[in-house]
Amino acid sequence: MGNEKNVYLFLKGKADGDAGMKNLLGGKGANLAEMAKMNIPVPAGFTITTEVCSYFMNNGGKYPKGLEREVEEAVKLTGEAMGKTFGDPENPLLVSVRSGARMSMPGMMETVLNVGLTSKTIPGLISKSGNGRFVWDAYRRLITMYSDVVLEKAAGIEPEEGEGIRQLLEREMEKVKEAKGVKADTDLEVEDLKKLCSIYKAKVKEVLGVEFPDDPMEQLWGGTGAVFISWNGKRAISYRNIEGIPHDWGTAVSVQSMVFGNMRDDSATGVAFTRNPATGDNHFYGEFLINAQGEDVVAGIRTPQALNAVSKASESDVLPSLEEIMPEQYKELYEIRNNLERHYRDMQDIEFTVENHKLYMLQTRVGKRNGIAAVRMAVDMEHEGLITKEEGIMRVRPDQIDEFLLPMLDPEDEKAKESDKLATGLPAGPGGAVGQIVFTADEAEEWARTGKKVILVRNETSPEDVHGMHAAEAILTAMGGMTSHAALVARGWGKCCIVGCGALNIDVHKKQLEVNGRILKEGDYISLNGSKGTVYTGKLDLFLVDPSKNEVFQEIMKWADDTRKLGVRTNADTPDDAAQARRFGAEGIGLCRTEHMFFGPDRILPMREMILAETGEDREKALTKLLPFQRDDFKGILRAMKGLPVTIRTLDPPLHEFLPHEPKNQEEVAKELGIDVVTLKRKVTALHEFNPMLGHRGCRLGIVYPEITAMQARAILEAACSLKKEDVEVHPEIMIPLIGTKAELENQKAVVVETAEEVFKQEGITVDYLVGTMIEIPRAAITAGKIAEIAQFFSFGTNDLTQMTFGYSRDDIGSFLPEFIEKKILPFDPFQSLDQEGVGFLVRYAVEKGRNTNPKLKVGICGEHGGDPASIEFCHSVGMDYVSCSPFRVPVARFAAAQAILREKA
Ligand code: PEP
Ligand code: MG
Repeated sequence: MGNEKNVYLFLKGKADGDAGMKNLLGGKGANLAEMAKMNIPVPAGFTITTEVCSYFMNNGGKYPKGLEREVEEAVKLTGEAMGKTFGDPENPLLVSVRSGARMSMPGMMETVLNVGLTSKTIPGLISKSGNGRFVWDAYRRLITMYSDVVLEKAAGIEPEEGEGIRQLLEREMEKVKEAKGVKADTDLEVEDLKKLCSIYKAKVKEVLGVEFPDDPMEQLWGGTGAVFISWNGKRAISYRNIEGIPHDWGTAVSVQSMVFGNMRDDSATGVAFTRNPATGDNHFYGEFLINAQGEDVVAGIRTPQALNAVSKASESDVLPSLEEIMPEQYKELYEIRNNLERHYRDMQDIEFTVENHKLYMLQTRVGKRNGIAAVRMAVDMEHEGLITKEEGIMRVRPDQIDEFLLPMLDPEDEKAKESDKLATGLPAGPGGAVGQIVFTADEAEEWARTGKKVILVRNETSPEDVHGMHAAEAILTAMGGMTSHAALVARGWGKCCIVGCGALNIDVHKKQLEVNGRILKEGDYISLNGSKGTVYTGKLDLFLVDPSKNEVFQEIMKWADDTRKLGVRTNADTPDDAAQARRFGAEGIGLCRTEHMFFGPDRILPMREMILAETGEDREKALTKLLPFQRDDFKGILRAMKGLPVTIRTLDPPLHEFLPHEPKNQEEVAKELGIDVVTLKRKVTALHEFNPMLGHRGCRLGIVYPEITAMQARAILEAACSLKKEDVEVHPEIMIPLIGTKAELENQKAVVVETAEEVFKQEGITVDYLVGTMIEIPRAAITAGKIAEIAQFFSFGTNDLTQMTFGYSRDDIGSFLPEFIEKKILPFDPFQSLDQEGVGFLVRYAVEKGRNTNPKLKVGICGEHGGDPASIEFCHSVGMDYVSCSPFRVPVARFAAAQAILREKA
């Protein structure tokens, strides 16, 4: 570094950078450059690159050579473009110093505004603006922000909770207001603010031991360094961990001329979305505050006014809109909105300021949206000719598809419980939620860890709360608008959220909230309708929407289905689950776990008789009793999936799982079975294993007790024949679990084939069926080439394969996994998302070897990974035929499969 360009200017009508340079200039810097180039009114400024951030981090807070000169030059040119000079006593330029990573991290890093205000420039700005109150207020804000961000946080000072410099200064302001007998900040006059600024500076000196800097350049460098340092702040790191953003990207710093929405009543500031981010509707949507700075809108301290009629939250929203108060500026803004959408071909989230009637754009970026809005916008924009279907598919994250399957409060229950309505706020995040009240983010996290469902209730949230917001079922705030921190974050996650619920009086210390005399305590239940903004006391019923009735959902899913190659099946053990999955688009069953069928009250008894049988004859007798139950089960499932393949697995778990272990239960069961309890206990003891997961389970059961496999094969094939006689199309696939050697499969396949011949002879017809195996033991993957000589299909059981490849017990991982992730020993839970490097190696190898031997081999996956988008992409890349996942993951999997192929093409 040294000769490289570190600073990129954006001036009116021209810029060094553009929107394509996000990696270097951050999203904010790149888009400011782009807007400047588009001739959109952007206050001039410049961006210091993310490479400088990396340099700064790697060199103990030093800057690359030459940066100082580049910044000085850029400051000069910025001033020239604005007709002002930085540090000039008569006509001073003030700047903001802001962060900007390549992906937006709302509110996670620091900002300093009004940089350049000093004892020398204050008088000049007063005479220029003709508004002393505004200037002293700006100076007060500068001292607050700068001492918080630069002098405290960036200096690594960690004050006690509630004792940070920002809070101490705010307390000083409260004192001044009290002494004067006023409530609102706006009631303070010039002299009050001036006095307050000296109090502030004295306090900073007293608490932090440094003079507040009075040199504009010193302020600028202080702000720049603090923004870089905030990249590694606690909340930024925690946000990146949640969002999966790499820690080595770094942030850029954008330095931009200040324009003031708080100069007078002809000034305003606001945030807007080019389309509604909650519903996706093609309406310009936003809010603003007269005579305010941008931070006031986002911080949610004052409840903002609507931009236009469609942005009004309800008819009771009587404050006039920007369209009504400033029609000309609104018109100009509306044109910019159209221009930006056409240019970026995506919904934008914009910030604007009106200073003395003149409109400026401060930021544009791709707007965050919930899943429902994402799908609506993708479909609408394709219809409008803005984007292609492929682009539309890539605009929606697979997990956002989940929102169409999200729980909602049951409208009937809402009607019935009208009198439990507690309050109404703004519908910031969709869906419904029921949970127990907690008042702090830490408690939300702790309670959630113990399995409780909680709703985080706050006056407003700040980026420090993200961990608790993530852990909570839903978020409820008393203050803030649709663009407040809580709303933005919740919307990004598709989480139920209500903001601006002004009726709530929250007392964090007493751990209670009060609404019109009604008091609710920590731990009390509330229910939220995040789509309407209604809060109820107590627990309301939740229900699920029917995505089959949603047209845009259907349309985008059709695009996905037309695009993908990978099939999507489901894991289902009952006709109901099978039918549900089919409604969600499942193309068959990839795994029917038969063991679940034996727990029904009518069949657990013969099952236990079978396990306890001392002789083959007794076992046969018990199996004969089980046969009709199994046949009916399979008939139901095959019928629900008529025309589609159904993979049924023979018995897998160790037999002791079917026997009672509690002495009391043992006595009852012994009585039911007509045996004495000692015999039962002896059998339970005999079945005890030290490592049941590696014990007598899977095909090992069928090999020792072939009559079990024979009974199950008979039940499947008799069910299939009987349906075929009713003209129901069936495609049974019989799957043998936990194979490690070819001989094991050979043994079990022989039992199935022999049984099939008997059944077909007895029924007088035949059905086509397949015999295949799960690949879930590393040895099976390694010898897949041999196994494929006799297997007609492979289905990867990646739950067991992960367990046995890592040697981590899948049932005990909870005791160390969180630490492993925290210490970065593992990047993620390998039972949730496939470990592509290790387990994935075995999968890829087995597919290749298996297909070499048997080119017709059908290959799928039925471990939990079959519903995980990243793992699905992997399955596509190794050439599997299908993935199989739980019914509610089916739409997500269909979508992820389409993205996999589009990403491959790209
Ligand atoms: C697997 O091991 O991945 C699998 C699907 O089987 P189960 O979870 O039933 O062991
Ligand atoms: Mg398994």
